[in-house]
Amino acid sequence: MTLLADKIVLVTGGSRGIGTGIVREAMQEGAKVVFTYLNSETEAQTLAQEMSDRYPDQSCIAQRCDVADTNAMQELVKRTLEKFGQIDGLVNNAGINRDAVLARMSREQWDSVINTNLGSMFTATQPLALQMVKQRRGSIVNISSVVGVYGNPGQTNYAAAKAGIIGFSKALSAEIAPYKVRVNVVAPGYIRTDMIAMMDQDSVDYVKSRISTRRFGNVEDVAPLVCFLLSDKASYITGQVIQVDGGITL
Ligand code: NDP
Repeated sequence: MTLLADKIVLVTGGSRGIGTGIVREAMQEGAKVVFTYLNSETEAQTLAQEMSDRYPDQSCIAQRCDVADTNAMQELVKRTLEKFGQIDGLVNNAGINRDAVLARMSREQWDSVINTNLGSMFTATQPLALQMVKQRRGSIVNISSVVGVYGNPGQTNYAAAKAGIIGFSKALSAEIAPYKVRVNVVAPGYIRTDMIAMMDQDSVDYVKSRISTRRFGNVEDVAPLVCFLLSDKASYITGQVIQVDGGITL
């Protein structure tokens, strides 16, 4: 028996990086998956096709949808419910960084990171939480960051958004736990994706020296935990922040 058999899972930002890893793992665990993308059309459609070919009895659908757009997310949830009749899991994964020290940060850098990373908690979760409450069943996993726990210079916008995700998740978990809907946070450390590909070698060496395991993580280090939290095996876990960071101490 696979972990997510017969479950319908919506993943934001599945076209690259950690989101792609979550889509792959959820499909392997038996879920039917709808995932969003914004710019990476080719990667998204290629992934959806590959997954549909590999798991012909399931379903993997890529939908272009800006997570910061309230109406677009509402429409996506509506269409997904019309097709499948239920949504059992939501992974709020889509995120961006626009780094600068605060003194040099533009309003656009601040707004884009807050709107995408934190605003999406509202746009994606609000229409779905009501549905999950009605179903009396559901699991929401929000992807924060160790930066939201410890802070990081040059990332005040990102740290604020990621810390906000933690507060949001704890409050929502208390609201909807009585209706059998759980909300948890996964806070990765440094995971090898495009998001950290621009780091220079000195920064890479410095950060690795501060990670207990002395290595960056891979998407495969994060995705299985997300799928476990989505599954019924985690039915007594809610309101938690779980760091997947190789023992980092910032
Ligand atoms: P990537 O940059 O590799 O991928 C980001 C994904 O988010 C892409 O699929 C992208 O889609 C999607 N996305 C971005 N903006 C939007 C939007 N407005 N609407 C819809 N989709 C969007 O990042 P990671 O995989 O590394 O990061 C995934 C999550 O994990 C993020 O929330 C990030 O903050 C978090 N994280 C990452 C860490 C790391 O070290 N990599 C560490 C801690 C947390 P598209 O390409 O189609 O635009």
